[in-house]
Order: sequence, then structure tokens, then C-alpha cells
Amino acid sequence: MILSPQQIGDLRLASRWQEVRRFDMAWRSAAMKKALRTWFILLALAVAPFCPASETPPTAQVASEHFRIEVPAEHRALASQILELAESARQHIAELVPDGMDERIGLAWCATEQEFYSRLGSRRGHLLAVAVPTIRRVYLNGEKLRQLDRREFRRALIHEFMHVYLGRRIPDGLPLWLNEGLAMHAAGDWDFADGAALAAASLFGTLFTPNELARRFPADAAGQTRAYRQSYSMTAYLIHLRYPNDGLRGLLADLVQNGNIRSLVEDPVWQEEFNRQWRDRWIRPTRVILVVTSSTALWILVAALVIAAYARKRRQTKRRQARWVLEEEFTCHTDEFDD
Ligand SMILES: [Zn+2]
Repeated sequence: MILSPQQIGDLRLASRWQEVRRFDMAWRSAAMKKALRTWFILLALAVAPFCPASETPPTAQVASEHFRIEVPAEHRALASQILELAESARQHIAELVPDGMDERIGLAWCATEQEFYSRLGSRRGHLLAVAVPTIRRVYLNGEKLRQLDRREFRRALIHEFMHVYLGRRIPDGLPLWLNEGLAMHAAGDWDFADGAALAAASLFGTLFTPNELARRFPADAAGQTRAYRQSYSMTAYLIHLRYPNDGLRGLLADLVQNGNIRSLVEDPVWQEEFNRQWRDRWIRPTRVILVVTSSTALWILVAALVIAAYARKRRQTKRRQARWVLEEEFTCHTDEFDD
């Protein structure tokens, strides 16, 4: 079809008219939005004086020789108990390390999980506490910690205070497996069931290399529990290997006072040899016991004992394992925090 000059002129006019209409509608829409916004602000200003202000609950500051804690005023009595446990946990660390632990540490008691995670700026989880060595502060998840008995609470504090100590004395950091292993050794986070589970992991070929545990732990819950267990065991072997007389104290003193050992644990060649020795000399003997007994009736007994130990362990340390699992999940996202 061919258009006449008149038809072409009409089409141009119509096109121009549509453009003008579109512009007009867009302008009207923008003007209406602006007017609505203005009215909304005016309305909010008019209503504001009649709205009750959100009230912050009164808080109380309680301090001991090395700690201070801020709690809601009605928890003042609880604060004194926490400070008593904190001083005891600090004393435990001070007896392990070469140079004492005299810095004051701030404890931030969060009465609810919601408050705990909002102060950490983190997504939800099941952490018991989180240490921030750079500012000498430990955030406490009150909702979780109040479910623990005093012994478990003190162990959780020892674990976090060790992270604070290591973070302050060794700002360059340590391989994650060693940092966690040291905190677990200081707190005594280990029992028979952990040993059996580690031997089983060896049997099923699910052990990690030191390099795999150097910066972060696996994201899944089961993998993280295995990673913590292995970290404890590798740290135990390192102590056995190099500090047979002084034990954990010897390793801590060397790490703080001697840069060589810190370089050594980061060396890939050393890691490979250490890993081989740890598996051959430390893990294999336990694994052999499981294998040798597997063909006899004794295996059934051992298996039953392991299962029973597992069940007991799961009941007794359910909260601790949840912490292990989720605190790592947290550190994956915030390097500054040490849990
Ligand atoms: Zn930890």
C-alpha cells in the first residue's frame, strides 16, 4: 500500500499528538506522587506528638576486677553470677598462658536471641557467644546461656576468652583448626564419644587435610562438627609431638613468643608431613581397634557402646554442638568475629 502526502501528514500529526499526551500523563503522575508524599509527611508530623515514644528498658552496669557487663536492670543479680564465672574462666586461661590476661573484657549480655543477633548484625543461628578480640568484647546469647548449668557456662566463657587472648596476642591470626583446637583444649571440649567418632571418620575416609581447615570450616552441620573434632585432635597431636613435657602451656608460650612455630604451621610442606604422621600414628591405632574387632561379637558390643556414648553425648552436649556448628557459619560471613 502507498500513502498519499495528505495521509503521511495526518500520521505525523497523530504521532506528535500521542507524544504530547504521554508527556502530559507522566507529568501528572509525578505531580500526584509529589503531592501525596507531601501530605503524608504533614500527616505524620501532625500525629507524632500523640504517639507514645518507644522506651528503652533501664540497664545496670556491673563490674568486677577484669570484666564489666551491662544487663537489663532486673537482671542485676544474674550479672554478679556471670562476673564470678567470668573471673574464674579468666583465671583458668591466665594459668595456661605465658603472659597473663590482665586486659579488661566487656561482656555484652543480650537477654533475647533477637537482641543478640541484631547486635551482631547477623542472620539467625544458635550461637552461645561470640568473641570480638579487636575490641575485647564477648557477646553473650542470654537466651541460650541461661539453659546451661554453671560448669557448661564457664566452659563456654573459657572457649571465648581463649579466642580473645589469641586474637590480641597473635593479630596475624592462626590457622582456624589451631585456633579452635586451642580454645577447645583450654575449655576441655572433648570426650570418649568424640574419639570414637573421629576413628569412624577415618574409617570412612571423611577426614580433612589441615589446609582444608586452615581458613574456614564446611558449611554443613555434620561437616562442621567433624571439623571441630579433628581440630582438637590435630592440636593434641601437635602438643604430643613438640611439647611432650609442657603440654598446652608449652604450645601457647611458643606461639606467643616465637614466630617460627607460627610460620611452621602455615608451611604446606610441614602440613603435609604433619597430616601424614597424625593419621598414621594418632588416628590409625584407634581405627585398627575398630577394624580388628569388627569380625567378632566384640564388635557388636563396641558398636553398642559407641552408639550409647553417642546418644549420651548428643543429650549432654546438644547445645555445645549447636554452637560449634553455627558459630562457624557466622565467622564465614564476618571475619572480625571469633567464636
Ligand atoms: Zn571457637
